[in-house]
Amino acid sequence: MPVAAKKSARRRRVEPELIFGDLWTFDPAPESADPKLQTRYKLFIGGKLVSHKRGRYFESINPATEKPLAEIALASAQDVDAAYAAASAVAPVWANFPGAERGKYLYRLARLLQDRAREFAVAEMLDGGKPIKESRDFDVPMAAAHFFYHAGWADKLAYAFPGATPVPHGVVGQVIPWNFPLLMLAWKLAPALACGNTVVLKPAETTSLTAMKFAESVMEAGLPAGVVNIVTGAGETGAAVVNHPRASKVAFTGSTAVGQHIMRATAGTGKKLTLELGRKAANIVFEDAPLDQAVEGIVNGIFFNQGHVCCAGSRLLVQEGVEEAVLKRLKNRVRMLRVGDPMDKNTDIGAINSKAQLAKITELVQSGVEEGAEVYQPECELPKSGWFFKPTLFSGVEQSHRIAREDVFGPVLSILTFRTVDEAIEKANNTAYGLSAGVWTDKGSRILKMSTALKAGVVWANTYNKFNPASPLGGYKESGFGREGGKQGLGDYVKLT
Ligand code: NAP
Ligand code: MG
Repeated sequence: MPVAAKKSARRRRVEPELIFGDLWTFDPAPESADPKLQTRYKLFIGGKLVSHKRGRYFESINPATEKPLAEIALASAQDVDAAYAAASAVAPVWANFPGAERGKYLYRLARLLQDRAREFAVAEMLDGGKPIKESRDFDVPMAAAHFFYHAGWADKLAYAFPGATPVPHGVVGQVIPWNFPLLMLAWKLAPALACGNTVVLKPAETTSLTAMKFAESVMEAGLPAGVVNIVTGAGETGAAVVNHPRASKVAFTGSTAVGQHIMRATAGTGKKLTLELGRKAANIVFEDAPLDQAVEGIVNGIFFNQGHVCCAGSRLLVQEGVEEAVLKRLKNRVRMLRVGDPMDKNTDIGAINSKAQLAKITELVQSGVEEGAEVYQPECELPKSGWFFKPTLFSGVEQSHRIAREDVFGPVLSILTFRTVDEAIEKANNTAYGLSAGVWTDKGSRILKMSTALKAGVVWANTYNKFNPASPLGGYKESGFGREGGKQGLGDYVKLT
C-alpha cells in the first residue's frame, strides 16, 4: 500500500466488521484422553471407598449429551455421621503432625493432580459441560497450584500470624457448587489441611466425579485415614454436613438463598462460618479505555465457563461516549465465539451445567425481553442434544430490570451506560452483592479511586477473571464473608490463641 494510503487508513477508524469476514470453519479437534471413570462411585470415608448405608445411587449426567456418566452414592445422615466420626478420630493426630509433614502430603496431592491432569480435565469437562480448553488450561492447573501454595504455608503458619499461636478448628464441614468442581474442592481442602484441620466435604449433585477421582489421589498420596472424607448427594446431604454437631467450622460456596439458610442453621451453635455466595459484578469501561482490549476482557468476563463464574462481569457499565463503539465490537466478537461440543479443543462456550440451570437462564432472558431491553444473539447453530445457550447481549438495560439485579449465572451480559465517574460508582454499587468488579481506563488515579469506592472483594483493572492462590477472594454484603486464598484465607481455618 502506498505510504499516503496507509496514513489515511490509520486516520480513519476501521470498523471491526470490515476486518473480520465470515467465520472460519475448523475441522473437529476432539480431546482423546481417557478420563478413567468407573461406572459406580462409593463414598470416601475413613480412607476407604465404602458402600453407604441405604444403598441408593443417583446418576451424574453429561450435560452436552444428556447421557449418564456414572452412578454416585447418595449419602444419608448416617453416612455423614460416619464421615464425621472418622474425621474426629484422626483430628488430634493430624493437628499434631509437624507442619512440614502436612506440607509433604499437600505437595504430593499437587503433583498427583499434575500427573493425572489430562484425565482430570476430561472428567471435569464431561461431568460439568465446560470446554476442554478451560478444564485443561484453568481448572486443573489452578487446583494443583492451590495445593502447592498451601503446602508452602503448612510449616510457616507462625509467620502468617506473628505474635499469635494458630490452632486448627478440628473437623471442618465443606459444601461446594458445580461451576468449578475440582477447583472449589482445592480452594476448600488445601487451606483446611495445611492448617491442621480434618474435613468432611460434599460436592454438588451434578458434579461429583472429579471429587471422587480426587479421593483416589488421597489414597495414593497415603494421607492418614479420615483426614479427608467425601460424601456425595444432594441438598439434604449438604444440610447433614452443615448441621452435624461435630463440625467446628462450616465453609460453604453456593447461592445466597442456601447461604442464608445455613447462617440461620448455624447461628448460636458456636461453629465458625464462612460463606462465598452470589454476585452481579460490574465491569466498567471508561471512554479513555483501550477498547479492543476491553472487549476481550468483557467477553472473558461473562462467557468464561458459560458465565457460571462467581465473579462473572455480568453487568457491563459503559461510558456513554463509547457505548456504540463498544457494542459494535462486542457483537462482532461474540459472533466469532464457538458454541458446542465441550470435547472439541476449538470450543469457546460449552454446555450449561444442568437442565434446571438452563431453565433459569431461559426464564431470566425472557424477562429481559419483556421488560424492554434489546437482545442480541449471534446466528450460531446449537447442538441437537444437550443443554446449550447462545451467548446473549442485552443493551438498553435499566437498573430495575431483573437481568440487572439477579444472578443469571449463564452467558448473558446486561449493558448499562453512565456519564460520570460518580454515576459509575453509584450504579456499580447499586446491588445486593459485592464479590468482584472490573475497571477499564487509561488513568492510574481513576483505577485507585474506583478500587476504593467499589464495594467488591476484588477489583480488576484493565483485565478480568485473574486468579491466583496467593490472592484472597471473598465478598461484601450478600456475596458472603470470609476469604479464600492468600494469608487471609488461611486465617479462616485457624483459631488464634
Ligand atoms: P446452591 O444450590 O446453593 O448449591 C451449592 C451447594 O450447596 C451444592 O453442593 C448443593 O447441593 C448444596 N446445598 C443445597 N441445599 C443445601 C442446604 N440446605 N444445606 C446445605 N447445602 C445445600 O448453589 P448452586 O446453584 O449449586 O451454585 C450456583 C451459585 O453459587 C450461584 O448463585 C453462584 O453465584 C454461587 N457461587 C459463588 C461463588 C463464590 O465464590 N462466591 C463461587 C461459585 C458459585 P446440590 O448441588 O446437590 O443441590
Ligand atoms: Mg454431571
